[in-house]
Amino acid sequence: MTTLEGRTCTSEGCGKPASLQCPTCLKIGVEGSYFCSRECFRESWAAHKQAHSVSDPKGTYDPHPNYPYTGPLRPVYPLSPRRQVPAGIACPDYAGRADGVSKLEQTYRNAEIATLTGKDLETMRRVTVLGREVLDAAARAIRVGVTTDEIDRIVHEATIERGAYPSPLNYFNFPKSVCTSVNEVICHGIPDQRKLEDGDIVNIDISLYKDGFHTDMNKTYFVGNVDPKYKKLVKTTRECLQKAIDLVKPGARYRDIGAAIEAHATKNGFSVVRTYCGHGVGAMFHSAPNVPHYAANKAIGVMKPGHVFTIEPMINEGGFQDRMWKDGWTAVTADGSRSAQFEHVILVTEDGHEVLSRRLPTSPASQLDGI
Ligand SMILES: [Zn+2]
Ligand SMILES: [Zn+2]
Repeated sequence: MTTLEGRTCTSEGCGKPASLQCPTCLKIGVEGSYFCSRECFRESWAAHKQAHSVSDPKGTYDPHPNYPYTGPLRPVYPLSPRRQVPAGIACPDYAGRADGVSKLEQTYRNAEIATLTGKDLETMRRVTVLGREVLDAAARAIRVGVTTDEIDRIVHEATIERGAYPSPLNYFNFPKSVCTSVNEVICHGIPDQRKLEDGDIVNIDISLYKDGFHTDMNKTYFVGNVDPKYKKLVKTTRECLQKAIDLVKPGARYRDIGAAIEAHATKNGFSVVRTYCGHGVGAMFHSAPNVPHYAANKAIGVMKPGHVFTIEPMINEGGFQDRMWKDGWTAVTADGSRSAQFEHVILVTEDGHEVLSRRLPTSPASQLDGI
């Protein structure tokens, strides 16, 4: 076992170089528990074990209290235990892997853009409608005081009820079944014990897998009374997505989508995230094409009937730069300003496009009038 660089044993009065960490702390995400030896760990157990349930009266805590957060939002741990998927549900290849890597995605990383026809296209259509139903179920649960973990529970159950697997679960070891991105979180927020607060904006990003196909869509919602400046950010983001969708037709170039998005974002005083892009979706969760949302990009490919891909612009109130929390997932704005996102699954048709993830007759009313 190697020495943990620069760390000393936290057992009282010891101070020797540390070579191990408490396994419980590692599991629940508490930082800073270092020990020089099993003996020292054992001796300090009575005092140390309190770290497993402390930090505030509710038993919740920030796993990385010394991290230089860019805005006011904090993770609220512990995460709930991993949710189970019933045996009868078909799982994608990464679901059972220790590293969460999709071999299929690795193998086809440089493949051509897939063209869906016939039965496969019908399956993709059907699976995307199920995804929309799950997104709508999550939307109905959004209110002041609900935790993002509760939204994760609702999404997980609505997904398995439909005989589907929640695609985020264990994808590169993502711990939950949905991404919930609040305020300054750009994307990939991990559902936790934080309660939604009056004035928050929250993005719910649903992906699920059934009958051999993934689907993937998201929307940003208002929680309670939201400041008009954040409403404008969210509305502008939805408009950016629409301007991009309007360009989709056979012969159009994937690289031209970003210019339409950036022009509209900039006109409204906002910026476009560059690190995360839209993507092909279907037999794989993420595949060709890559779809940047910013202008002057070098994306490859021309749209053809049967292509299915996402457009999912992330628009920031301040600068475009992003940072990553220590959880390895949560992408936040570097300046702590808020960020909004909308994502649809688009099919290129013979004469234009079809938004496969469009609202259903049963979808809750939009919070954005007229959009
Ligand atoms: Zn998504
Ligand atoms: Zn996506």
